[in-house]
Amino acid sequence: MSTTSTGTAYLPQASGPTVLTGTPVVPGVALGPVIRPSGAVRLPGDGEPDVEEGARPAEKQRFVAAAEVVAGRLAQRAAAATGVSAEVLSTTAGLARDRGLLSAVEQRIDSGSPAAVATVQAAQQFMDMFTALGGLMAERVTDVRDVRDRIVAELTGQGEPGVPSPDVPSVLLADDLAPADTAGLDPARVIGLATRLGGTTSHTAIIARQLGLPCVVAVGGLDDVPAGATVLLDGEQGTVTVDPEEFEALARVDAARAAAEALSGYEGPATTKDGHAVQVLANVQDGAGAQAAAAVHAEGVGLLRTELAFLGHAEEPSVEEQAKGYAAVFEAFAGRKVVLRTLDAGSDKPLAFATLPDEANPALGVRGLRIARLDPGLLERQLDAVAEAARTTSSTPWVMAPMVATVAEAADFATQVRARGLVPGVMIEVPSAALLADRLLEHVDFLSIGTNDLSQYTLAADRLSADLADLTDPWQPALLLLVSMTAEAGRRRGKPVGVCGEAAADPLLACVLVGLGISSLSCAASAVPGVGSKLGTVELATCQEAARAALAADGPAEARAAVRAVLAAAE
Ligand code: PEP
Ligand code: MG
Repeated sequence: MSTTSTGTAYLPQASGPTVLTGTPVVPGVALGPVIRPSGAVRLPGDGEPDVEEGARPAEKQRFVAAAEVVAGRLAQRAAAATGVSAEVLSTTAGLARDRGLLSAVEQRIDSGSPAAVATVQAAQQFMDMFTALGGLMAERVTDVRDVRDRIVAELTGQGEPGVPSPDVPSVLLADDLAPADTAGLDPARVIGLATRLGGTTSHTAIIARQLGLPCVVAVGGLDDVPAGATVLLDGEQGTVTVDPEEFEALARVDAARAAAEALSGYEGPATTKDGHAVQVLANVQDGAGAQAAAAVHAEGVGLLRTELAFLGHAEEPSVEEQAKGYAAVFEAFAGRKVVLRTLDAGSDKPLAFATLPDEANPALGVRGLRIARLDPGLLERQLDAVAEAARTTSSTPWVMAPMVATVAEAADFATQVRARGLVPGVMIEVPSAALLADRLLEHVDFLSIGTNDLSQYTLAADRLSADLADLTDPWQPALLLLVSMTAEAGRRRGKPVGVCGEAAADPLLACVLVGLGISSLSCAASAVPGVGSKLGTVELATCQEAARAALAADGPAEARAAVRAVLAAAE
C-alpha cells in the first residue's frame, strides 16, 4: 500500500512507502540510492583584500589556468558524448574560454580584484545583460552561472561542483540541473533522474530523452528525500517511490527491463495492433542525426530543425553551405519522407544574422516565418538551397514554415515552395493557425503540429518557465482540443496532419494523438522504438476511446489516468 504526495513534504508513512508524483518525461524504471548534486559553490564576497600591483599578472595567469582546466574537462566530456549532449558540453566549454569573459575578468584584476572576485563580478555583468535581453537568453544565464561556479571552485580549491560520480548505479534527484550537468551524465552510473523544477521541453528533459534515462520532472516533495534513501523512479507513471517494498520494486524493474529489451527489436514501420499505419518519424538537425535516426528504424524525418545548425553563426550561411547540410539529411533517408522546416529563428533560438537583438517580448515577436518580413531574401535563399539539395539527391522534400498565424502567410509560403518543385506545408504552433486549419489546407499539402509552442501560446505560459511547466504539459485538454480540430480539418480535406512537438515522444500520448486522427508522429530518435512499439499494442478503436477520455479530463494528471485505464481495460 502507498500514499501519494504531489507537493507536500516527504514524511515516511506508517502505512507504506510514500509516492511523489510529477510529470513523466522518459519512460523506464530505475531503482537505487539517491544522489544529489554537490552543494552550492561558496562564492567570495567583495570584502577580499586587493591584489598588489606586482602580483596582478600572476593573478591573471591563475584565472586563465583555472578557466582552461574547466574548459578542458567539459571539452573532454563533449568528445565522449554525442548529439545534444555534446553540443551543450562544448557550448559551456566555449563559455569558459570566452574572450569577452576573459577581458572582463582581466580588467577587474587590473584594478586589484582577486581572480575569484573578478570572476563573480564579470559573470554577474553577463548574467545581468542576458537577463535584460529577456526570456530569449534564459538558458544562457544558467550556463554563465555554471561556468562561474566551476571556475571559482577551481580557483579556491573547492573541488568540481555538479553531479558526483557514484560507485553504484544511482538515481539523481535535484532542484534543476545546469545543462552541462545533465549532458555530462554517465547513464551507467546515473540510472534515473528526477527534478523538482523543469518541464517536458526543458534542457534536462531533452537530454534525458536523448540518453534514454528514465526521467520525471516537476516532482513535488522531492526536497525532503535525503541522499542515500532508496527510491523507485517510474518514468512512465511519473512517480518517485521512497523506500519502496523490495519485492514489488524488483518486479517492476524486471518488467521494465523486459519491455526495454522488446523495444530493441523494433524495426518499423509502425501500425496499431489492428494494422492502422502511423508514420513514426524522427526530429533531427543534421546529417549525423538523420543517420542515427535511420539506425533506430525511424520511417523518415518529420522535423529537420534547420536553424540549429546555424546557432553560432554570425553571418548567413551561403546557399551552397546550406544545400550541402540539407543534402546530407536527404541522403540518409533516400526515397523516404523528409520534412524540412525553414529557419525558426528567434525567441529561444536566436540567430545573429536573422533576428532582432532587442525585442521586448521575443516569443511574441519577429520569430519563425516572420523573419522573412525583415529580410524576404533569407527565406528565398534558403528555399533555393533546399531545391538545390533536392536536385542533387533526386529527392522531393516536404518543406514547412514555422509560426504561421494567417491564411495569407500560408498562401504566400506555398507559392514560393511550389515554384521550386517542393511540397509545401505549415506548422500549427499558434492557436489562430489551428482555428484556421481548414483554410490553410486550401493552400498547403500538409500540416505539422508543434505542440511545444502551441501549448505555450494556448496556455499563455512561457515554455522555458519551470514554474509554469504544469501549464505547458502536452496533456492539457485545451491543447488536445486544438490538435483534434486540426486533425479533423486534415481528415475533411484528405491531407496529412502530423505532430512533431515533444508530445509525440510520449508513448501513451502517442496513442491519444493517433485516436485524434494524427497520421504521423515525429520525435527524438531515442523515442522512436518506444512510440512505435506501443502503438503496436493497441487497436485504433482503443486509441479513439483514449482520445475521448483525454479530451474529457479536467487536467493533465486526470487525462493520463483516464487513458491508462482505457488502455488497461482493452488489454
Ligand atoms: C514545437 O514548437 O513543438 C516544435 C516542434 O518546434 P520547436 O520546439 O523547435 O520550437
Ligand atoms: Mg516551435
